[in-house]
Formats: sequence, C-alpha cells, structure tokens
Amino acid sequence: MFCCPLCEQYTIYSVCSDCRKIRHYMSIYSKERVITILDNILSRTEDKQENKIVHEIKEDIEAKKYNLRNKDKEIKK
Ligand SMILES: [Zn+2]
Repeated sequence: MFCCPLCEQYTIYSVCSDCRKIRHYMSIYSKERVITILDNILSRTEDKQENKIVHEIKEDIEAKKYNLRNKDKEIKK
C-alpha cells in the first residue's frame, strides 16, 4: 500500500485512481488549464453559496422587522 501524494488516501498504486484522472487531464489540457477550470467552477459555487446565505439572512431580518412593526401597532392600540 502507498499513500497518494495528492489526496493522501491509501492506494495500491503510487498515485490513487482519482488523482491519476486529474493527472491525465493535466497531461491533455496542461496543469494551468486544469487549475483555471477548477478555480472558475469552485469559486462560482462559493459565490452561489454566499448568495444563498445572504438571501436567507435577508428573509430572517425581514421577518424580524415585520414582527417588530406588528408589536409597535399592538402597543399603539
Ligand atoms: Zn489521490
């Protein structure tokens, strides 16, 4: 058994089969291209996650504002 130098999982080869796939893509498209693609996709996913978080927080804040407004009305009655 070896330890894959990339993902550090145990493997029967010097590099595990998943990481060999990555190495294969690097040999076809170049290391720089693979890194650019990964950067683009992974950072976009992060953006979407952030948008979702912001959206959910906004809903929470609006619900609180709505509750506060209703409390104000009840107090004024
Ligand atoms: Zn690996």
